[in-house]
Amino acid sequence: MTSTNDIRRTFLEFFEEKGHARVASAPLVPHNDPSLMFVNAGMVPFKNVFTGLETPPSPRAVSAQKCVRAGGKHNDLDNVGYTARHHTFFEMLGNFSFGDYFKEQAIEQAWTLLTKEFGLDPDRLLATVYHTDDEAFALWKKIAGLPEDRIIRIATKDNFWAMGDDGPCGPCSEIFWDHGDHIPGGPPGSPDEDGDRFVEIWNLVFMQNEQRGGEIVGELPNRNIDTGMGLERISAVLQGVHNNYDTDTFRTLIDAAESQLHEAATDATIASHRIIADHLRATGFLIADGVLPSNEGRGYVLRRIMRRAMRHSHLLGAQTPLMHRLVPTLVGEMGQAYPELVRGQTLIEETLEREETRFRETLDKGLRLLDDATQSLGAGDELDGEVAFKLYDTYGFPYDLTEDALRAQGISVDREGFDAAMANQRQAARAAWKGSGEATDSEVWFAIAEREGATEFTGYTATQGEGRV
Ligand code: ATP
Ligand code: MG
Ligand code: MG
Ligand code: MG
Repeated sequence: MTSTNDIRRTFLEFFEEKGHARVASAPLVPHNDPSLMFVNAGMVPFKNVFTGLETPPSPRAVSAQKCVRAGGKHNDLDNVGYTARHHTFFEMLGNFSFGDYFKEQAIEQAWTLLTKEFGLDPDRLLATVYHTDDEAFALWKKIAGLPEDRIIRIATKDNFWAMGDDGPCGPCSEIFWDHGDHIPGGPPGSPDEDGDRFVEIWNLVFMQNEQRGGEIVGELPNRNIDTGMGLERISAVLQGVHNNYDTDTFRTLIDAAESQLHEAATDATIASHRIIADHLRATGFLIADGVLPSNEGRGYVLRRIMRRAMRHSHLLGAQTPLMHRLVPTLVGEMGQAYPELVRGQTLIEETLEREETRFRETLDKGLRLLDDATQSLGAGDELDGEVAFKLYDTYGFPYDLTEDALRAQGISVDREGFDAAMANQRQAARAAWKGSGEATDSEVWFAIAEREGATEFTGYTATQGEGRV
């Protein structure tokens, strides 16, 4: 079996041989973009290169970039443990051309890597193109020999990439793998495309236009290529498993938890195991990059991830803190590719142990309160927002943890009631400390992002007015 570490190496070497400079992963906290919570794609460290503000390291680059999609514009937190293909932390493999090669070579290289280097069956691959991109459609036919019914035209934003309202943009082409008709789900563009049968493995972005105010105003003088392939997804394909969580890295992490708990995962507990393994990676990598749990901003996203995992470890019957005991396995699995994990190991372990010890003091009581409050509720019902707020305020339950805890029973949470209770408390606090401006900008941003379902962090200035009393 090809290991995930080998697959990462093969990808990097394949593009290095084709003249790409290998660029190390940037830290998860973006240094060049205050509008982003975490780096969530391989192109993020190159944003200024694509807009022309910085000169490229080389006309071609290749990287394996650490990404987190929890909080912010792309938020996959609620998918974790429930789909076969989403993580909060994952690695995005990417090759980039800065004004160098374009569409034809990008498609040609991708196809060669997948079908020759990796040896994938061409009959199980599909491609989507933006509905107006006849050029890409023709190239998939010519280069890959894909039949027309496996080149799918998509008219939505899924196949049109833009950096924002102003800047480079262009059509993209996503490559899908058919995991087989024993798995529910339809091809891209069909009503049941969200199933896990056809899994998107690679996205090729063809930056060819320029936008001003959300309108295309012309062609870019220097056309660029930006691609992103999820390492965990291609590993699943190459290791012959359907679910990312059945790949070597995740199996090793889940095995470690099973042996710590002296109990094998069952159908009833596997989701908890997957969530723990996923959140362990996110936690480890975020702490290694300098994020610590706190009550605001990035630190609160981390705390939410940690506490969610801790509830699941409690659910699995762990009598004492579990998460920190899994860190050596994580470091063993990923420390060679990411030495910051080795350097940060002690800090990661100590932070996890402290946080889990503290949270356990209130977790039990909070869960009991939740049990009482849901006694008379069933599927389709809603938990009182005041109760969710009490859990948050008194027992340290992040809102989404309560939501996650009730999901299996089909009970939802009254978000408006929760927000109202929160607003009341803030107002009372403001009245008590009149004029001292307690709410920090990031606290305010976070409150708004939570309420709005996490849009992109637009920087401190956009929220300042609201935060000042
Ligand atoms: P999906 O539609 O499956 O949510 P996406 O279109 O949001 O994926 P992109 O933004 O195109 O993903 O990112 C490029 C690649 O990164 C995807 O093709 C996929 O392989 C991988 N990827 C994206 N999100 C995740 C995630 N949450 N966990 C693991 N891999 C991911
Ligand atoms: Mg997505
Ligand atoms: Mg997609
Ligand atoms: Mg995509």
